[in-house]
Amino acid sequence: MELKQIEIPPTSTSTSISSPVKHKKSDYSFSENTPNSNALPLLLYLTNAIFFAAVYFLLVSWRDKIRHSKPLHVVSSSEMAALLAFAASFVYLLGFFNPLQEQQELESLQEEEEKQKITDLKKKLENDVPDQHVTLAAIKSSDLMSDDDEEIVKGVAEGRIPSYSLESKLGDCKRAAAIRRKALERITGKSLDGLPLESFDYESILGQCCEMPVGYVQIPVGIAGPLLLDGEEYSVPMATTEGCLVASTNRGCKAIYASGGATSVVLKDGMTRAPVVRFSTAKRAAQLKLFLEDPLSFETIAAAFNKSSRFASLQTIKCAIAGKNLYMRFTCSTGDAMGMNMVSKGVQNVLDFLQTTDFPDMDIIGISGNFCSDKKPAAVNWIEGRGKSVVCEAIIKEDVVNKVLKTDVASLVELNMLKNLTGSAMAGALGGFNAHAANIVSAVYIATGQDPAQNIESSHCITMMEAVNEGKDLHISVTMPSIEVGTVGGGTQLASQAACLNLLGVKGASKEVPGANSRRLATVVAGAVLAGELSLMSAIAAGQLVKSHMKYNRSSSNKP
Ligand code: ADP
Repeated sequence: MELKQIEIPPTSTSTSISSPVKHKKSDYSFSENTPNSNALPLLLYLTNAIFFAAVYFLLVSWRDKIRHSKPLHVVSSSEMAALLAFAASFVYLLGFFNPLQEQQELESLQEEEEKQKITDLKKKLENDVPDQHVTLAAIKSSDLMSDDDEEIVKGVAEGRIPSYSLESKLGDCKRAAAIRRKALERITGKSLDGLPLESFDYESILGQCCEMPVGYVQIPVGIAGPLLLDGEEYSVPMATTEGCLVASTNRGCKAIYASGGATSVVLKDGMTRAPVVRFSTAKRAAQLKLFLEDPLSFETIAAAFNKSSRFASLQTIKCAIAGKNLYMRFTCSTGDAMGMNMVSKGVQNVLDFLQTTDFPDMDIIGISGNFCSDKKPAAVNWIEGRGKSVVCEAIIKEDVVNKVLKTDVASLVELNMLKNLTGSAMAGALGGFNAHAANIVSAVYIATGQDPAQNIESSHCITMMEAVNEGKDLHISVTMPSIEVGTVGGGTQLASQAACLNLLGVKGASKEVPGANSRRLATVVAGAVLAGELSLMSAIAAGQLVKSHMKYNRSSSNKP
């Protein structure tokens, strides 16, 4: 019913409305056909007539008095009546033409108009959109634009104003996002309803996390846990849209908890960057390789490398040669930062140092030569490690395997051997000797503000299972050589991601030891992967059990 009041202009989004209440300054002219518009001029004419009649009478009367030398201050009753009529009509006319009052009336009507717009929008949403919160958030700013903003939207849509310059030009990131969004809808003719705009701190991403924002995507965060790891309990936040993932990891956590918990060790902690440089001969490239790998050179190179950050500390340099080209893989500790920026700055310092000292003939081809190797599957990370190298283990008791995981130790060990080890070998896997480490890594990374593209090498994992304690219990471990995480920098400082880090007790920089928070986060990632592996492998093993039970005509009631 309310929808009938809402007009959707063709150039606008489906959420734009044309309010039924339309007032402009000119709307207050006497000709307008409002209920009071007939009575108003009549009263005004009458008052005008009284005013001018009183003035005329008083002037004539005072002129006669002056002519006949009568005192002006002696006022007759008719003059008194004329004076009163003059004063009354003057006050009325003053009030009528008072511009301030008119302005106030106009403002209050405009306010009413805005309220009416919002009410109409709400009514519309209630009627035809199930997720009212999301769409309301999407609409408010982009539809209720001021005339100024409307001009800017036009400028962006017509290409006169570059979209990327809105933040710097307006000095208001939220407004910039709303305008960009509206212009985008206009250019593409597509609605962005459902992509929320409101309730986000656009200042916090400026120059750091995302350029040219038009809103944000919502991803639900589930909690798996408690994960009992190294004697501490963790509630693990997982941002995912994959059904069963959190539930499955939660079941793994339950099995670990019931068996006394998991234990982890950080084997290595160092971020890498490998520039590529070229010389005119392979011999010169080899000379630099020998210089960089000579222990006597390390102190000099480390001094150059470390000067850009108090948290950057050079650990090793490993070189690989391809003809005249040299790849130098620098590894350094980076405190609680994931460390890509930090290591890149250090590498640049070393390149500058080399060029200004013994290697002026060195041609720098790229600060990254892919021997690093960032966000690509590469054996160098699998073998040498990148970020945090972590191993995590637990012994799951026989009755927990049976009751919580609904399978048995022998089935799990066999499945692990044939699937995660032999099957992955048959597939020529690179670091993929696991069931679904990437699922857990990605979900925890998104929740905690890590770089999700780094899930590629961060998900490298070999899952091992073995029957222990005379074959009764299950020893399970995950070995993950390249978990790339940080608790400062990047997306970690954004409100929702920081809240998830806070839940784990690893928000920001560690006050005790630089790097302790990021290392702890890496162990939590490995612990959650351990739980995920345990649960999924059990589900697969149990599924196989169910099939064999059915084959032999037995009950299928223990189907997972
Ligand atoms: P990344 O190197 O992971 O890309 P950033 O360079 O964005 O990260 O963030 C690291 C920044 O945080 C640096 O400027 C560094 O000086 C600062 N910082 C503050 N405390 C720490 C800490 N405990 N560990 C590492 N960096 C820290």
